[in-house]
Amino acid sequence: MLNLVLFGPPGAGKGTQAIYLARTFNLVHLSTGDLLRQEITAKTDLGRMADEIISKGELVPDSIVISMIEAKLNTPKTTVGFIFDGFPRTVPQAKALDELLQKHNSKVSVMLCLEVDKLELIGRLLKRGLTSGRCDDADAATIENRINVYNEKTAPLINYYAEQGKYHQIQGIGEIDEIAARLKEAVLKL
Ligand code: UDP
Ligand code: MG
Repeated sequence: MLNLVLFGPPGAGKGTQAIYLARTFNLVHLSTGDLLRQEITAKTDLGRMADEIISKGELVPDSIVISMIEAKLNTPKTTVGFIFDGFPRTVPQAKALDELLQKHNSKVSVMLCLEVDKLELIGRLLKRGLTSGRCDDADAATIENRINVYNEKTAPLINYYAEQGKYHQIQGIGEIDEIAARLKEAVLKL
């Protein structure tokens, strides 16, 4: 199986590029952010809880996102692999993902990290906030907090995957199709 972890700070372009990668390699796209937003729209108990956390730019507890991924991996579906977008976000989540994939006799193939500097990220998120209707894109303070949370809790995953020789940096600035081509090339070289 080809299992890609698409990684990077908020606004790096994970969602956009995951769609291209999924299409190119016939992968199932799993975005925990999208799954949480579906819960919010459906006004479930989980959605209400997630909404409160997400609008502050904080992280939903590990147990919740891990269960969501577990449910998706256990749904019988033939696929050549998965693309994980916005998950894992903490080291415990990455460990849980490894265990879940192991149960399916599989593993993470590579972690592709989109490199984008902070000024560009803030500009992109503020711009997205004008049209996305996402509460977490709306104001500068929430965006700042999301980037801080990323640096504190999510960035340590770089080491986690680097130690396994799975960390690949991809320049995340440029035209969308240029970046898509860089990602494709990195996967084809695996
Ligand atoms: N989120 C989370 N855990 C996840 C996915 C998302 O806590 O596994 C929350 C978190 O508050 C994050 C927000 O949902 O800031 C939006 O996530 P998404 O991945 O969609 O944001 P992106 O980084 O792509 O802008
Ligand atoms: Mg996203």
